[in-house]
Order: sequence, then structure tokens, then C-alpha cells
Amino acid sequence: MDFYFINTQPFDPEAYELHTGNCYFTPMPHNRQYIGLFTHPKYALHKALKSYPKVYCCELCCNYQDQSQPTKMERRSIQ
Ligand SMILES: [Zn+2]
Repeated sequence: MDFYFINTQPFDPEAYELHTGNCYFTPMPHNRQYIGLFTHPKYALHKALKSYPKVYCCELCCNYQDQSQPTKMERRSIQ
């Protein structure tokens, strides 16, 4: 089980990153929103998507990709 947080500072317009509580990149307390305690990042992602339009799992701590969303690498190549 891990605690999950959203970085409330988007890295792209309306694109937010999801982290576990012990990730090196977990944002500072004033820049994060607590999502919950989950056994798998997909559950945290599912909940976060109810509050944020686009959510990406951190590649370091979550390493999970929702198949319905393009990866960050794909997004970069589109732009
Ligand atoms: Zn992370």
C-alpha cells in the first residue's frame, strides 16, 4: 500500500503528475493534494482523474500507464 499525491502544479497545461508519498519527486506539502492510500497506482490514477483532466503517473515511483492516454513521450512528439 502506498500513499498517493497529485502535484497541483501542472507540468503541462492541465496535465498533472501522480506520485507516491516516498518518491524523490513528491512535491512539497503546499504543492500537492492527497489522493489516498492504494494498493496499485491504477486506483490512485482513477480517483485523481475525477478531479483533474489529465493525470500521468510518475515514471520513477508509479510506472503505470493508462492505455487511454498517450504517454508523455508521445505527447512531446505530437507537440
Ligand atoms: Zn514519483
